[in-house]
Amino acid sequence: MSADAEVIVVGGGAAGAAAAVHLALRGRAVHVLTQQCGAPAPGCGGGMAASVQRWFPFDLAPAVEQVIRRVRFTWNLADPVVADLPGEAPFWIVDRPALDRLLLARAVEHGATVQEGASVTSLQREGSLWCASTATGKPLRAPAVVLASGSSSPLPAALGLGPSRPRFATAMAAAVDPASDGASATAEPPEATAWFEFGLVHHGFSWVFPRRRGHSIGVGTFLDQGRDGVDFQAVLGRLLPALGCGADQGERRLLNLRIWNGHHRLHREGIVAVGDAASLCDPFLAEGIRPALLSGTLAAEALDGWLAGDAESLQHYSARIRRDWGDSMAWGRRIAQVFYRFPGVGYQLGIKRPTAPQRIAQILSGSMGYGDIAQRVIRRLLLQRS
Ligand SMILES: Cc1cc2nc3c(=O)[nH]c(=O)nc-3n(C[C@H](O)[C@H](O)[C@H](O)COP(=O)(O)OP(=O)(O)OC[C@H]3O[C@@H](n4cnc5c(N)ncnc54)[C@H](O)[C@@H]3O)c2cc1C
Repeated sequence: MSADAEVIVVGGGAAGAAAAVHLALRGRAVHVLTQQCGAPAPGCGGGMAASVQRWFPFDLAPAVEQVIRRVRFTWNLADPVVADLPGEAPFWIVDRPALDRLLLARAVEHGATVQEGASVTSLQREGSLWCASTATGKPLRAPAVVLASGSSSPLPAALGLGPSRPRFATAMAAAVDPASDGASATAEPPEATAWFEFGLVHHGFSWVFPRRRGHSIGVGTFLDQGRDGVDFQAVLGRLLPALGCGADQGERRLLNLRIWNGHHRLHREGIVAVGDAASLCDPFLAEGIRPALLSGTLAAEALDGWLAGDAESLQHYSARIRRDWGDSMAWGRRIAQVFYRFPGVGYQLGIKRPTAPQRIAQILSGSMGYGDIAQRVIRRLLLQRS
């Protein structure tokens, strides 16, 4: 059997599209098979560190709806803490479908093929090739695969990539526009401010991100035992009036999001997992776009090396993800487990510390990892004891 491409990318979300464009830029023959194009995990808030721009040789600005310069935290809609984001590293709200389409369009410009409506049902090894079967159409073969099929895909576990038993956060997403409701728009949150509310949700938090029109809102719970106790609709019913919206405004969706759950092997012979398919999403703040773009970028580099004959290149991919993302997430998970178990104490001792909002702002803007924060706390405790 001959190959149809050098690399098959399964999934055209942020992670798959990033891998596709970087592989195409390196001159590799890429074929993207995706259920949908520019229609990522429905409900994605689009909050993303602007620092991801450094991974792309073209401007991501066309997908940016808002540049966030300030974050605001509350506990039960009160007790606010406000922090300015570091000037050079702001936080963006992107239109996710537009971002994915932008990356895929650039990949196509550099020779990639994007096949929409192609749902991959199985991936099997046939000699030195991977064979991707789809529900419709003929199977496709290539020596290499990027598995970017998102949170709900069974493919990664079936292929032994990432955790065998993934962990999930649960989130309800809603998009609202006070103007369309005829309600009085309030200054909550002020434009270009991202709002994080910690008191209303068990083992989680709510977020309100300003869009070009209206807000993107989410209510997420991050510990397994929290899921059953959360009345997502009731939380939205309390948040929305604070935004000048009716308590029941907006279409709502309940979604599962695969979150980081330990260091795992993300490669096998000729295949790598990226983004949510690799369980890279931050278990504390649900940040998944940045690791999707990072892993897509690193996967392209690794597969390019592997195709050129570097046998260790894919092993290096798993190691790079561990070093550049996973080590921080290991601390993020520890912080989440403590914070979301005792959120009231966490808010007072964590968020209300004079330096804490700045630190969270730095996490969001990508200029600091959870490990840096943990080391500062440990140093402080040691100094107090000496
Ligand atoms: C409510 C909510 C809000 C969020 N808000 C934010 C936020 O503000 N900031 C942030 O950083 N992260 C956020 N996230 C997380 C973020 O959306 C994900 O981490 C991110 O979308 C991961 O990108 P991905 O490309 O790995 O997966 P996806 O974006 O889910 O893309 C997967 C792609 O694969 C395709 N696909 C799936 N199965 C197959 C198959 N078998 N064959 C072919 N194609 C397939 C899908 O159609 C899709 O195009 C949020 C998540 C949720 C649920």
